[in-house]
Amino acid sequence: MALRSIFRAVIMGPPGSGKGTVSARIVKSFGPKHLSSGDLLRANITAKTELGLLMKSCIDQGQLVPDDVISRLILRELRAMEQTDWLLDGFPRTVSQAEALDTVYCVDTVINLDVPFQTIKQRLTSRWIHTPSGRVYNMDFNPPRVAGLDDDTGEALVQRDDDTPETVTRRLKAYENLTEPVLEYYRSKGVLETFSGTETNKIWPHIQVFLNEKLSTMKQKVVA
Ligand code: ATP
Ligand code: MG
Repeated sequence: MALRSIFRAVIMGPPGSGKGTVSARIVKSFGPKHLSSGDLLRANITAKTELGLLMKSCIDQGQLVPDDVISRLILRELRAMEQTDWLLDGFPRTVSQAEALDTVYCVDTVINLDVPFQTIKQRLTSRWIHTPSGRVYNMDFNPPRVAGLDDDTGEALVQRDDDTPETVTRRLKAYENLTEPVLEYYRSKGVLETFSGTETNKIWPHIQVFLNEKLSTMKQKVVA
């Protein structure tokens, strides 16, 4: 018995704004499926698929991969998730990607993490990730229990090839030029919710309250 309609959300914010960390918490509290374009691309690189090999240099240089490539990849994944609540992370990143998504699905909510660029630059250099799961750690404020090892699997953590200072600068530029217009796109549709701050742990409770309300409203609408 469906008590409410399917919840389709997008999480946005500059690189290193905490999308991965907040997404994991949203999944834990509210249970949508998390689909991260960056994780998907890195999985392709690790598996050395044709797509992964083609896109690796682009990603390592901090440039966006072509719109049609990423849109096709993501929309294919979403097709298998028709009846599932989902949370998209890292897609759409350009207005053209947002339009591609719109031809297939209507997004209910866009959660925008508004974190100052200065904070981000510091953060990314102390970030370590567990590539297979996409779990993110930060040596300053969210360290693993054992240095260098993933909490759940005990496997090695790595730093991303695109987390060097120069590449981070380039990614922030791409964000300003290509992704900020997407915020405007969703604002004009009335679905943008912005959460500002410098610490994920302080931003998170506000997101939790917001989603609790949002999901209970969706439930009431279907019951009514
Ligand atoms: P973070 O994961 O720290 O928030 P990010 O948003 O820069 O940082 P990912 O989302 O993991 O990183 O993406 C890494 C790289 O993958 C991007 O720099 C880009 O090259 C490519 N990429 C990911 N998603 C897209 C997309 N929607 N369009 C184009 N390129 C993408
Ligand atoms: Mg990410």
